Amino acid sequence: MTATTHRTSPWMDSDLEMFRDSFARFVESEMLPQDEHWRKQQHVGHDIWRRAGQMGFLCTDISDTYGCPGGDFRHEVIVVEELIRRGISGFAQSVHSIAAHYILNHGTEEQKQRFLPRMARGELVGAIAFTEPGAGSDMQALRTRAERDGDDYVVNGSKIFITNGYLAELLILVVRTSSAPGGKGLSVLLVETTNAKGYRVGRILDKMGMKAQDTSELFFEDLRVPAANLLGGEEGRGFAQLMSDLPYERLIVAIAGVAAMEGGVAATIDYVKQRKAFGKAIAEFQNTRFKLAEMVTNTRVARTFVDSCIQDLLAGRLDTATASMAKYWVTDLQQQVLDECVQLHGGYGYMNEYLVTRLFADARVQRIYGGTNEIMKELISRSI
Ligand SMILES: Cc1cc2nc3c(=O)[nH]c(=O)nc-3n(C[C@H](O)[C@H](O)[C@H](O)COP(=O)(O)OP(=O)(O)OC[C@H]3O[C@@H](n4cnc5c(N)ncnc54)[C@H](O)[C@@H]3O)c2cc1C
Repeated sequence: MTATTHRTSPWMDSDLEMFRDSFARFVESEMLPQDEHWRKQQHVGHDIWRRAGQMGFLCTDISDTYGCPGGDFRHEVIVVEELIRRGISGFAQSVHSIAAHYILNHGTEEQKQRFLPRMARGELVGAIAFTEPGAGSDMQALRTRAERDGDDYVVNGSKIFITNGYLAELLILVVRTSSAPGGKGLSVLLVETTNAKGYRVGRILDKMGMKAQDTSELFFEDLRVPAANLLGGEEGRGFAQLMSDLPYERLIVAIAGVAAMEGGVAATIDYVKQRKAFGKAIAEFQNTRFKLAEMVTNTRVARTFVDSCIQDLLAGRLDTATASMAKYWVTDLQQQVLDECVQLHGGYGYMNEYLVTRLFADARVQRIYGGTNEIMKELISRSI
Protein backbone atom coordinates (compact mmCIF):
# COMPACT_ATOMS: atom_id res chain seq x y z
CA MET A 1 0.00 0.00 0.00
CA THR A 2 1.21 3.51 -0.78
CA ALA A 3 0.06 6.95 0.35
CA THR A 4 -1.96 7.09 -2.89
CA THR A 5 -3.85 3.83 -2.35
CA HIS A 6 -4.36 4.12 1.39
CA ARG A 7 -4.96 7.02 3.78
CA THR A 8 -5.71 6.49 7.44
CA SER A 9 -9.24 7.63 8.26
CA PRO A 10 -9.44 10.79 10.38
CA TRP A 11 -11.48 8.96 13.05
CA MET A 12 -8.76 6.34 13.70
CA ASP A 13 -6.40 6.43 16.69
CA SER A 14 -3.74 4.15 18.18
CA ASP A 15 -6.15 2.20 20.42
CA LEU A 16 -8.38 1.54 17.42
CA GLU A 17 -5.30 0.38 15.43
CA MET A 18 -4.74 -2.27 18.12
CA PHE A 19 -8.39 -3.30 17.95
CA ARG A 20 -8.14 -3.48 14.14
CA ASP A 21 -5.01 -5.67 14.31
CA SER A 22 -6.57 -8.01 16.80
CA PHE A 23 -9.83 -8.39 14.85
CA ALA A 24 -7.92 -8.80 11.55
CA ARG A 25 -5.90 -11.63 13.15
CA PHE A 26 -9.15 -13.25 14.30
CA VAL A 27 -10.60 -13.07 10.77
CA GLU A 28 -7.44 -14.48 9.21
CA SER A 29 -6.92 -17.30 11.69
CA GLU A 30 -10.48 -18.33 12.54
CA MET A 31 -12.62 -17.31 9.58
CA LEU A 32 -10.68 -17.31 6.31
CA PRO A 33 -9.58 -20.97 6.63
CA GLN A 34 -13.24 -21.98 7.03
CA ASP A 35 -14.76 -19.80 4.33
CA GLU A 36 -14.63 -22.39 1.55
CA HIS A 37 -16.47 -24.89 3.79
CA TRP A 38 -18.96 -22.21 4.87
CA ARG A 39 -19.70 -21.34 1.25
CA LYS A 40 -20.44 -24.99 0.47
CA GLN A 41 -22.75 -25.47 3.47
CA GLN A 42 -24.36 -21.99 2.94
CA HIS A 43 -23.88 -20.88 6.54
CA VAL A 44 -21.11 -20.17 9.04
CA GLY A 45 -22.48 -22.28 11.92
CA HIS A 46 -23.04 -21.19 15.50
CA ASP A 47 -19.52 -21.85 16.84
CA ILE A 48 -17.93 -18.82 15.19
CA TRP A 49 -20.66 -16.60 16.65
CA ARG A 50 -19.97 -17.87 20.16
CA ARG A 51 -16.24 -17.47 19.58
CA ALA A 52 -16.59 -13.89 18.27
CA GLY A 53 -18.70 -13.14 21.36
CA GLN A 54 -16.05 -14.55 23.72
CA MET A 55 -13.44 -12.38 22.03
CA GLY A 56 -15.52 -9.19 22.46
CA PHE A 57 -16.16 -8.67 18.74
CA LEU A 58 -19.99 -8.51 18.85
CA CYS A 59 -22.18 -5.48 19.63
CA THR A 60 -18.94 -3.54 20.07
CA ASP A 61 -20.60 -0.12 20.15
CA ILE A 62 -23.08 -0.91 22.94
CA SER A 63 -22.46 -0.09 26.59
CA ASP A 64 -21.11 -2.56 29.15
CA THR A 65 -24.23 -1.76 31.21
CA TYR A 66 -25.84 -4.30 28.88
CA GLY A 67 -22.94 -6.77 28.91
CA CYS A 68 -21.52 -5.44 25.62
CA PRO A 69 -17.91 -4.37 24.94
CA GLY A 70 -18.69 -0.67 25.46
CA GLY A 71 -16.85 0.82 22.48
CA ASP A 72 -18.35 3.20 19.95
CA PHE A 73 -19.38 3.16 16.30
CA ARG A 74 -15.74 3.21 15.16
CA HIS A 75 -15.30 -0.33 16.51
CA GLU A 76 -18.26 -1.49 14.45
CA VAL A 77 -16.81 0.18 11.36
CA ILE A 78 -13.53 -1.67 11.84
CA VAL A 79 -15.29 -5.02 12.23
CA VAL A 80 -17.26 -4.46 8.99
CA GLU A 81 -14.18 -3.29 7.11
CA GLU A 82 -11.91 -6.16 8.14
CA LEU A 83 -14.55 -8.77 7.26
CA ILE A 84 -15.67 -7.32 3.96
CA ARG A 85 -12.29 -6.36 2.50
CA ARG A 86 -11.41 -10.08 2.81
CA GLY A 87 -14.71 -11.19 1.25
CA ILE A 88 -16.12 -12.70 4.46
CA SER A 89 -19.80 -11.97 3.81
CA GLY A 90 -21.31 -15.07 5.43
CA PHE A 91 -20.77 -13.84 8.98
CA ALA A 92 -23.38 -11.04 8.98
CA GLN A 93 -22.23 -9.36 12.16
CA SER A 94 -23.61 -6.06 10.82
CA VAL A 95 -27.20 -7.39 10.74
CA HIS A 96 -26.71 -8.82 14.24
CA SER A 97 -25.56 -5.37 15.39
CA ILE A 98 -28.43 -3.56 13.70
CA ALA A 99 -30.83 -5.99 15.41
CA ALA A 100 -29.20 -5.22 18.77
CA HIS A 101 -29.58 -1.50 18.10
CA TYR A 102 -33.35 -1.86 17.65
CA ILE A 103 -33.46 -3.27 21.18
CA LEU A 104 -31.03 -0.67 22.53
CA ASN A 105 -32.88 2.28 20.99
CA HIS A 106 -36.49 1.16 21.37
CA GLY A 107 -36.63 -1.69 23.91
CA THR A 108 -37.79 -1.44 27.50
CA GLU A 109 -35.06 -1.60 30.15
CA GLU A 110 -36.11 -5.18 30.92
CA GLN A 111 -35.80 -6.16 27.23
CA LYS A 112 -32.32 -4.60 26.98
CA GLN A 113 -31.13 -6.49 30.07
CA ARG A 114 -32.70 -9.72 28.87
CA PHE A 115 -31.41 -9.79 25.29
CA LEU A 116 -28.33 -7.59 24.79
CA PRO A 117 -25.84 -9.50 26.99
CA ARG A 118 -26.72 -12.75 25.23
CA MET A 119 -26.36 -11.10 21.82
CA ALA A 120 -22.93 -9.76 22.82
CA ARG A 121 -21.85 -13.25 23.89
CA GLY A 122 -22.98 -14.65 20.53
CA GLU A 123 -25.52 -16.89 22.28
CA LEU A 124 -28.41 -15.30 20.40
CA VAL A 125 -27.67 -14.71 16.72
CA GLY A 126 -29.84 -11.81 15.60
CA ALA A 127 -31.83 -11.32 12.39
CA ILE A 128 -34.21 -8.65 11.17
CA ALA A 129 -37.34 -9.94 9.48
CA PHE A 130 -39.58 -7.53 7.66
CA THR A 131 -39.49 -8.47 3.96
CA GLU A 132 -42.29 -10.78 2.77
CA PRO A 133 -42.92 -12.45 -0.58
CA GLY A 134 -45.41 -9.67 -1.43
CA ALA A 135 -43.79 -6.70 0.33
CA GLY A 136 -40.22 -5.37 0.25
CA SER A 137 -39.84 -1.70 -0.59
CA ASP A 138 -43.48 -1.16 0.32
CA MET A 139 -43.33 -1.97 4.03
CA GLN A 140 -46.88 -0.84 4.57
CA ALA A 141 -48.07 -3.84 2.52
CA LEU A 142 -46.77 -6.32 5.14
CA ARG A 143 -49.28 -9.06 5.99
CA THR A 144 -47.75 -11.23 8.73
CA ARG A 145 -50.24 -10.86 11.57
CA ALA A 146 -49.88 -10.99 15.35
CA GLU A 147 -53.12 -11.25 17.28
CA ARG A 148 -53.28 -10.75 21.01
CA ASP A 149 -54.49 -13.80 22.97
CA GLY A 150 -54.13 -13.46 26.76
CA ASP A 151 -50.49 -12.84 27.61
CA ASP A 152 -49.28 -13.84 24.15
CA TYR A 153 -49.36 -12.76 20.54
CA VAL A 154 -50.22 -15.45 18.01
CA VAL A 155 -48.22 -14.97 14.82
CA ASN A 156 -49.13 -16.22 11.33
CA GLY A 157 -47.39 -15.42 8.06
CA SER A 158 -44.01 -15.70 6.35
CA LYS A 159 -40.85 -13.74 5.63
CA ILE A 160 -38.32 -14.01 2.83
CA PHE A 161 -34.68 -13.04 2.15
CA ILE A 162 -33.82 -12.95 5.86
CA THR A 163 -30.08 -12.54 6.49
CA ASN A 164 -28.86 -14.90 9.25
CA GLY A 165 -32.28 -16.57 8.91
CA TYR A 166 -31.09 -20.17 9.27
CA LEU A 167 -28.90 -19.54 12.33
CA ALA A 168 -31.07 -16.85 13.94
CA GLU A 169 -32.01 -17.36 17.58
CA LEU A 170 -33.56 -13.93 17.99
CA LEU A 171 -35.75 -12.25 15.39
CA ILE A 172 -36.64 -8.60 15.19
CA LEU A 173 -39.95 -9.54 13.60
CA VAL A 174 -42.16 -6.91 12.00
CA VAL A 175 -45.83 -7.82 12.25
CA ARG A 176 -49.24 -6.28 11.72
CA THR A 177 -51.00 -5.90 15.07
CA SER A 178 -54.02 -3.99 13.79
CA SER A 179 -55.71 -2.95 10.58
CA ALA A 180 -54.89 0.71 11.25
CA PRO A 181 -53.91 2.31 7.92
CA GLY A 182 -50.32 2.74 6.74
CA GLY A 183 -47.49 2.10 9.15
CA LYS A 184 -49.66 2.63 12.23
CA GLY A 185 -50.72 -1.02 12.33
CA LEU A 186 -47.14 -2.34 12.46
CA SER A 187 -45.31 -3.50 15.58
CA VAL A 188 -42.05 -5.32 16.29
CA LEU A 189 -41.87 -8.56 18.27
CA LEU A 190 -38.66 -9.99 19.72
CA VAL A 191 -38.90 -13.68 18.93
CA GLU A 192 -36.67 -16.34 20.45
CA THR A 193 -36.66 -19.14 17.89
CA THR A 194 -35.03 -22.06 19.74
CA ASN A 195 -37.60 -24.88 20.04
CA ALA A 196 -40.40 -22.41 19.23
CA LYS A 197 -43.52 -24.34 18.22
CA GLY A 198 -45.05 -22.92 15.04
CA TYR A 199 -41.74 -21.52 13.77
CA ARG A 200 -40.08 -23.03 10.73
CA VAL A 201 -37.03 -22.05 8.70
CA GLY A 202 -37.51 -22.75 5.01
CA ARG A 203 -34.80 -23.03 2.39
CA ILE A 204 -31.44 -21.34 2.66
CA LEU A 205 -31.79 -19.40 -0.57
CA ASP A 206 -29.39 -20.07 -3.46
CA LYS A 207 -27.95 -16.62 -4.28
CA MET A 208 -25.76 -15.03 -6.96
CA GLY A 209 -23.17 -14.12 -4.31
CA MET A 210 -22.73 -14.12 -0.52
CA LYS A 211 -22.62 -17.90 -0.74
CA ALA A 212 -21.75 -18.45 2.94
CA GLN A 213 -24.65 -16.28 4.10
CA ASP A 214 -27.72 -18.17 5.34
CA THR A 215 -30.35 -15.91 3.77
CA SER A 216 -33.60 -17.80 4.37
CA GLU A 217 -37.34 -18.00 4.24
CA LEU A 218 -39.17 -18.09 7.59
CA PHE A 219 -42.67 -19.40 8.34
CA PHE A 220 -44.96 -18.72 11.31
CA GLU A 221 -47.98 -20.87 12.03
CA ASP A 222 -49.78 -20.05 15.27
CA LEU A 223 -46.43 -19.16 16.86
CA ARG A 224 -47.00 -17.87 20.41
CA VAL A 225 -44.81 -14.96 21.48
CA PRO A 226 -45.09 -13.50 25.00
CA ALA A 227 -46.61 -10.01 24.98
CA ALA A 228 -43.61 -8.98 27.12
CA ASN A 229 -41.59 -9.31 23.88
CA LEU A 230 -43.36 -6.43 22.12
CA LEU A 231 -40.49 -4.02 21.37
CA GLY A 232 -40.87 -0.99 23.62
CA GLY A 233 -44.08 -2.41 25.10
CA GLU A 234 -46.39 -0.37 22.87
CA GLU A 235 -48.30 -1.51 19.76
CA GLY A 236 -48.28 0.45 16.50
CA ARG A 237 -44.75 1.82 16.92
CA GLY A 238 -43.07 -0.61 14.48
CA PHE A 239 -42.86 1.65 11.44
CA ALA A 240 -41.43 4.58 13.41
CA GLN A 241 -38.96 2.30 15.22
CA LEU A 242 -37.68 0.88 11.93
CA MET A 243 -37.46 4.28 10.22
CA SER A 244 -35.47 5.91 13.01
CA ASP A 245 -32.62 3.38 12.77
CA LEU A 246 -32.24 3.44 9.01
CA PRO A 247 -29.33 5.96 8.81
CA TYR A 248 -27.21 3.58 10.96
CA GLU A 249 -28.12 0.61 8.78
CA ARG A 250 -27.56 2.43 5.48
CA LEU A 251 -24.23 3.82 6.51
CA ILE A 252 -23.06 0.30 7.37
CA VAL A 253 -23.98 -0.81 3.82
CA ALA A 254 -21.90 2.08 2.45
CA ILE A 255 -18.97 1.24 4.76
CA ALA A 256 -19.06 -2.34 3.47
CA GLY A 257 -19.10 -0.94 -0.08
CA VAL A 258 -15.91 1.05 0.43
CA ALA A 259 -14.19 -1.84 2.23
CA ALA A 260 -15.02 -4.15 -0.69
CA MET A 261 -13.61 -1.63 -3.16
CA GLU A 262 -10.43 -1.25 -1.12
CA GLY A 263 -9.99 -5.02 -0.84
CA GLY A 264 -10.67 -5.54 -4.55
CA VAL A 265 -8.38 -2.73 -5.71
CA ALA A 266 -5.50 -3.89 -3.47
CA ALA A 267 -5.82 -7.46 -4.81
CA THR A 268 -5.92 -6.13 -8.38
CA ILE A 269 -2.82 -4.00 -7.96
CA ASP A 270 -0.92 -7.08 -6.71
CA TYR A 271 -2.27 -9.20 -9.55
CA VAL A 272 -1.41 -6.88 -12.45
CA LYS A 273 2.13 -6.47 -11.17
CA GLN A 274 2.84 -10.19 -11.31
CA ARG A 275 0.73 -11.27 -14.34
CA LYS A 276 2.63 -11.07 -17.61
CA ALA A 277 1.44 -10.71 -21.23
CA PHE A 278 3.39 -9.81 -24.36
CA GLY A 279 6.63 -10.03 -22.39
CA LYS A 280 5.78 -7.56 -19.65
CA ALA A 281 3.66 -7.16 -16.53
CA ILE A 282 0.12 -6.13 -17.48
CA ALA A 283 0.54 -3.29 -14.96
CA GLU A 284 2.79 -1.65 -17.55
CA PHE A 285 0.11 -1.26 -20.24
CA GLN A 286 -1.21 2.27 -20.38
CA ASN A 287 -4.81 1.00 -20.20
CA THR A 288 -4.04 -0.84 -16.95
CA ARG A 289 -2.33 2.19 -15.43
CA PHE A 290 -5.25 4.46 -16.36
CA LYS A 291 -7.83 1.96 -15.05
CA LEU A 292 -5.90 1.69 -11.77
CA ALA A 293 -5.75 5.48 -11.55
CA GLU A 294 -9.55 5.66 -11.98
CA MET A 295 -10.21 2.85 -9.49
CA VAL A 296 -7.93 4.34 -6.84
CA THR A 297 -9.48 7.79 -7.33
CA ASN A 298 -13.04 6.46 -7.13
CA THR A 299 -12.23 4.47 -4.02
CA ARG A 300 -10.54 7.42 -2.31
CA VAL A 301 -13.46 9.77 -3.07
CA ALA A 302 -15.92 7.18 -1.70
CA ARG A 303 -13.76 6.66 1.39
CA THR A 304 -13.65 10.41 2.04
CA PHE A 305 -17.43 10.77 1.83
CA VAL A 306 -18.05 7.70 3.98
CA ASP A 307 -15.50 8.88 6.56
CA SER A 308 -17.37 12.18 6.80
CA CYS A 309 -20.66 10.26 7.30
CA ILE A 310 -18.98 8.17 10.02
CA GLN A 311 -17.94 11.37 11.77
CA ASP A 312 -21.48 12.73 11.41
CA LEU A 313 -22.92 9.56 12.91
CA LEU A 314 -20.47 9.71 15.82
CA ALA A 315 -21.55 13.31 16.41
CA GLY A 316 -25.23 12.29 16.30
CA ARG A 317 -26.02 14.35 13.21
CA LEU A 318 -26.20 11.86 10.31
CA ASP A 319 -29.54 12.53 8.62
CA THR A 320 -31.61 10.17 6.50
CA ALA A 321 -30.90 11.95 3.20
CA THR A 322 -27.11 11.90 3.67
CA ALA A 323 -27.11 8.24 4.74
CA SER A 324 -29.23 7.45 1.66
CA MET A 325 -26.73 9.32 -0.57
CA ALA A 326 -23.89 7.25 0.87
CA LYS A 327 -25.80 3.98 0.46
CA TYR A 328 -26.84 4.53 -3.16
CA TRP A 329 -23.79 6.33 -4.50
CA VAL A 330 -21.16 4.12 -2.89
CA THR A 331 -22.86 0.84 -3.80
CA ASP A 332 -23.34 1.89 -7.45
CA LEU A 333 -19.66 2.82 -7.57
CA GLN A 334 -18.69 -0.41 -5.78
CA GLN A 335 -20.22 -2.41 -8.61
CA GLN A 336 -18.33 -0.41 -11.27
CA VAL A 337 -14.98 -0.58 -9.49
CA LEU A 338 -15.23 -4.31 -8.81
CA ASP A 339 -16.23 -4.91 -12.42
CA GLU A 340 -12.93 -3.30 -13.47
CA CYS A 341 -11.08 -5.47 -10.91
CA VAL A 342 -12.59 -8.57 -12.52
CA GLN A 343 -11.71 -7.31 -16.00
CA LEU A 344 -8.05 -6.78 -15.10
CA HIS A 345 -7.88 -10.36 -13.81
CA GLY A 346 -8.90 -11.71 -17.24
CA GLY A 347 -10.30 -15.27 -17.11
CA TYR A 348 -9.12 -15.72 -13.52
CA GLY A 349 -11.48 -12.89 -12.59
CA TYR A 350 -14.38 -15.22 -13.37
CA MET A 351 -13.15 -17.95 -11.02
CA ASN A 352 -14.66 -18.10 -7.54
CA GLU A 353 -11.33 -18.87 -5.95
CA TYR A 354 -10.29 -15.26 -6.59
CA LEU A 355 -11.20 -12.58 -4.06
CA VAL A 356 -12.29 -10.06 -6.73
CA THR A 357 -14.73 -12.57 -8.21
CA ARG A 358 -16.44 -13.13 -4.86
CA LEU A 359 -16.43 -9.41 -4.08
CA PHE A 360 -18.01 -8.69 -7.48
CA ALA A 361 -20.77 -11.27 -6.96
CA ASP A 362 -21.38 -10.04 -3.40
CA ALA A 363 -21.58 -6.41 -4.57
CA ARG A 364 -24.72 -6.77 -6.67
CA VAL A 365 -27.11 -7.07 -3.76
CA GLN A 366 -25.71 -4.00 -2.05
CA ARG A 367 -27.82 -1.94 -4.49
CA ILE A 368 -30.94 -3.91 -3.55
CA TYR A 369 -31.06 -4.58 0.19
CA GLY A 370 -31.14 -2.04 3.00
CA GLY A 371 -33.70 -0.19 0.85
CA THR A 372 -33.12 -0.27 -2.94
CA ASN A 373 -31.07 2.50 -4.51
CA GLU A 374 -34.23 3.76 -6.20
CA ILE A 375 -35.87 4.14 -2.78
CA MET A 376 -32.72 6.00 -1.62
CA LYS A 377 -33.20 8.52 -4.47
CA GLU A 378 -36.86 8.84 -3.50
CA LEU A 379 -35.82 9.71 0.08
CA ILE A 380 -33.11 12.15 -1.02
CA SER A 381 -35.50 13.90 -3.42
CA ARG A 382 -38.07 14.35 -0.63
CA SER A 383 -35.51 16.32 1.38
CA ILE A 384 -34.72 18.74 -1.45
C1 LIG B 1 -29.29 -11.15 -0.03
C2 LIG B 1 -30.45 -10.40 0.55
C3 LIG B 1 -30.48 -10.18 1.93
C4 LIG B 1 -31.60 -9.53 2.49
N1 LIG B 1 -31.66 -9.40 3.86
C5 LIG B 1 -32.83 -8.98 4.41
C6 LIG B 1 -33.03 -9.05 5.82
O1 LIG B 1 -32.13 -9.42 6.59
N2 LIG B 1 -34.24 -8.68 6.33
C7 LIG B 1 -35.26 -8.26 5.53
O2 LIG B 1 -36.32 -7.98 6.06
N3 LIG B 1 -35.10 -8.17 4.19
C8 LIG B 1 -33.92 -8.52 3.61
N4 LIG B 1 -33.75 -8.48 2.25
C9 LIG B 1 -34.84 -7.97 1.42
C10 LIG B 1 -34.53 -6.64 0.78
O3 LIG B 1 -34.49 -5.62 1.76
C11 LIG B 1 -35.59 -6.40 -0.29
O4 LIG B 1 -35.34 -7.34 -1.31
C12 LIG B 1 -35.55 -4.99 -0.83
O5 LIG B 1 -36.00 -4.08 0.14
C13 LIG B 1 -36.42 -4.82 -2.08
O6 LIG B 1 -37.71 -5.34 -1.88
P1 LIG B 1 -38.32 -6.35 -2.98
O7 LIG B 1 -37.33 -7.45 -3.17
O8 LIG B 1 -39.69 -6.72 -2.56
O9 LIG B 1 -38.35 -5.52 -4.32
P2 LIG B 1 -39.55 -4.57 -4.82
O10 LIG B 1 -39.97 -3.69 -3.71
O11 LIG B 1 -40.59 -5.43 -5.47
O12 LIG B 1 -38.80 -3.72 -5.91
C14 LIG B 1 -38.60 -4.15 -7.27
C15 LIG B 1 -38.06 -2.96 -8.06
O13 LIG B 1 -39.02 -1.89 -8.02
C16 LIG B 1 -38.39 -0.71 -7.55
N5 LIG B 1 -39.34 0.08 -6.76
C17 LIG B 1 -40.17 -0.32 -5.77
N6 LIG B 1 -40.85 0.73 -5.28
C18 LIG B 1 -40.44 1.82 -5.95
C19 LIG B 1 -40.75 3.22 -5.89
N7 LIG B 1 -41.63 3.71 -5.01
N8 LIG B 1 -40.13 4.06 -6.77
C20 LIG B 1 -39.22 3.58 -7.65
N9 LIG B 1 -38.88 2.28 -7.75
C21 LIG B 1 -39.47 1.42 -6.90
C22 LIG B 1 -37.26 -1.20 -6.67
O14 LIG B 1 -36.26 -0.19 -6.50
C23 LIG B 1 -36.75 -2.40 -7.45
O15 LIG B 1 -35.89 -1.97 -8.48
C24 LIG B 1 -32.64 -9.06 1.65
C25 LIG B 1 -32.56 -9.25 0.27
C26 LIG B 1 -31.50 -9.93 -0.27
C27 LIG B 1 -31.49 -10.16 -1.76
